[in-house]
Amino acid sequence: MNKRVAVLGAGPMGLAAAYELVNQGYKPVIFEADDRVGGMTAAFDFSGMKIERYYHFHCTSDSGFLQILEELGIAEKMHWTETKMAYWYRGKLQPWGNPIALLKFDGLSLISKIRYGLFAFLCTKRNDWRPLDKVNAKEWVMRWVGPQAYEVMWQRLFEYKFHDFTDNLSAAWIWSRIRRLGRSRYNLFKEKLGYLENGSQTLLDAMVCHIEAGGGQIRLESPVTEVHIRDGSVHAVESDGLLETFDRVVSTIPLPFVPRLIPDLPASVLDAYRSVNNIAVVCVIVKLARPLSGNFWVNINDPDMDIPGLVEYTNLQSLGEHVVYVPYYLPGDHPSFAQPDEWFKERVCGYLKVINPELTEQDIIDVRSSRYRFAQPICEPGFSEKLPPVELPVKGLWVADTSYYYPEDRGISESIDLGRKLASMVTAC
Ligand SMILES: Cc1cc2nc3c(=O)[nH]c(=O)nc-3n(C[C@H](O)[C@H](O)[C@H](O)COP(=O)(O)OP(=O)(O)OC[C@H]3O[C@@H](n4cnc5c(N)ncnc54)[C@H](O)[C@@H]3O)c2cc1C
Repeated sequence: MNKRVAVLGAGPMGLAAAYELVNQGYKPVIFEADDRVGGMTAAFDFSGMKIERYYHFHCTSDSGFLQILEELGIAEKMHWTETKMAYWYRGKLQPWGNPIALLKFDGLSLISKIRYGLFAFLCTKRNDWRPLDKVNAKEWVMRWVGPQAYEVMWQRLFEYKFHDFTDNLSAAWIWSRIRRLGRSRYNLFKEKLGYLENGSQTLLDAMVCHIEAGGGQIRLESPVTEVHIRDGSVHAVESDGLLETFDRVVSTIPLPFVPRLIPDLPASVLDAYRSVNNIAVVCVIVKLARPLSGNFWVNINDPDMDIPGLVEYTNLQSLGEHVVYVPYYLPGDHPSFAQPDEWFKERVCGYLKVINPELTEQDIIDVRSSRYRFAQPICEPGFSEKLPPVELPVKGLWVADTSYYYPEDRGISESIDLGRKLASMVTAC
């Protein structure tokens, strides 16, 4: 209990680790590079509206998230909405996400529809991901749904989300996303997604309050530059040119940063971290005076639009004005990632006007964009065997990030679960 513990990163995982440490009587120090807590869930001032940089919704299976809301006494701020989904295909918005929409969809043969429906249904029934771990996702989807449904429903989504990695993705990883969304429903015909009043900030504020009340410290604008190891044990954390001694260090920052921060780790561990590919995101957020559509989620398959889809967030949570997020997922070395924010904003505003021709320039109240370089680890077949254990061969050091809960996709609930688990490992040793 009198051990000094440092937590690197104040995203949901780092905060959850600190929350659990405080519960066990520790007083952790959290180092955060940004000027605010939250990582990918952090909020910003969108001309008077405090909103997340990146969209977040919740599914009924987000048990770790729902559990911590209960513990913090904010469960009543969680709400569920019957949301709608659509496909932008053949120049029109087509309803999507239920059996009737599938049957009516313009662009698929009846046999493709039956194969697609069966595939989606069986994905929600499967529980064991292990047999899919070493299977190639593209081949697996194609085998089930056939070439036509793959081309219409999946190809562009994969290519605009995963680019050159499309041909080498784990089927277990793709399946876990289909299942999470597919199981979050009132019934076969009605989708059920959740949001927190005032977004993730509500959770972040409650966690910060709990951590600080328990004696934990959160240091913003304090990027860690090195974790010093001495005689096989953690010794100190360096930030802002200052060295501070700690007995335990828990790192929750994206893995690609770790080799620079902890160069004294064994070469095999550093190589494993370096071998994880990550996709960046440039996420455009648009505030509109009128709705774009009635859908929360719109998948896009249009040769004239270089995006996999968009999220009309205010069809999940009403905020007065209408808010649409449009993510561009890009490899860090993709030429488009070097484009300025204005380039993305102009393209997105153009696409929105195509999707809803009634939208005029006057309807666009404000447009912003945010970037996160390591927004999404890429999990290839066999990913479960790729990473070293979170407990490293250095006494007092644990390292994890969102790639550690494979086959689950990165998610707030999963980061909270893992953060708490990391804390339990610290307190157990
Ligand atoms: C576009 C987008 C949409 C998403 N949609 C959803 C959704 O709908 N539902 C859902 O559940 N999840 C969603 N997610 C995922 C969710 O945001 C993440 O899973 C979650 O925020 C990960 O939390 P984390 O703490 O593990 O990592 P991060 O949020 O990445 O936090 C890591 C922290 O480490 C800090 N850091 C980095 N380097 C240093 C350093 N040297 N020293 C100190 N600190 C450092 C960073 O600033 C950051 O705050 C989405 C993510 C994105 C990008």
